[in-house]
Amino acid sequence: MSSTPGLLADVVPSSFVDGPGNRYVVFLQGCSFDCLACHNPHTIGRHATAFTHRVEAADLADEIACVAPFLTGVTVSGGEATVQWEFVRDLFAALRDRPATAHLTRLVDTNGDADPDVWAELVPVMDGAMVDLKAIEPDVHRVLTGHGNDRVLESIRLLDRVGRLAEVRLLVIPGVNDAPEHVDATARWLVALGSCPPVMVLGFRHAGTREVARRFREATPADLTTVVERLREGGVGARRATDPARADR
Ligand code: SF4
Repeated sequence: MSSTPGLLADVVPSSFVDGPGNRYVVFLQGCSFDCLACHNPHTIGRHATAFTHRVEAADLADEIACVAPFLTGVTVSGGEATVQWEFVRDLFAALRDRPATAHLTRLVDTNGDADPDVWAELVPVMDGAMVDLKAIEPDVHRVLTGHGNDRVLESIRLLDRVGRLAEVRLLVIPGVNDAPEHVDATARWLVALGSCPPVMVLGFRHAGTREVARRFREATPADLTTVVERLREGGVGARRATDPARADR
């Protein structure tokens, strides 16, 4: 079977902030959003640049096999992982089918902007998805990302239903998406899922962002604590990220 090569922005062979344990992280080039607060804006464009490279899924799986004894799993991030879902599917299938890598958990770090057809391809080969929810209010989401959040919310529902929702991630941008009524609405929506998914609260930082993001204030530990406590009061199992410097993809 011929496979689709992936267009990679970068790989990180050992990371403790992109899912549980020690993970090999693949950053794919290209995103469906254009977030004002993006911490990796160079990964948004979908075309090859001097900094990207193409790789076959089988070849990358072979590379990962060399360090697999030291790893807990593999996370595919971006950009947006699902923009190159054929490559993600082929990479995860290759990892699953190789004895040297079969023990690795396979996670997707996603903005949730994917159709059910895409998840139908990925769910059989992945252990879970960590989904960003940029804002529960559609208008705020549109300002932050350029898109509404219907597909994101539907992706979270779908992944929850099929047991592949590893985590929901909330990036707190003070004064933009952390109003008490918005946090309460987020809690109500998550509780209504019925499964109590784990929720990670991260803080916006200026590092790596474009000039347009300097209008936003960086989140302080107190900002994050306020959101976490409010979510918990609403019945959500929220926790703060341990490393605010890797607050977003
Ligand atoms: S923050 Fe994530 S979803 Fe938004 S543009 Fe950047 S890579 Fe894409």
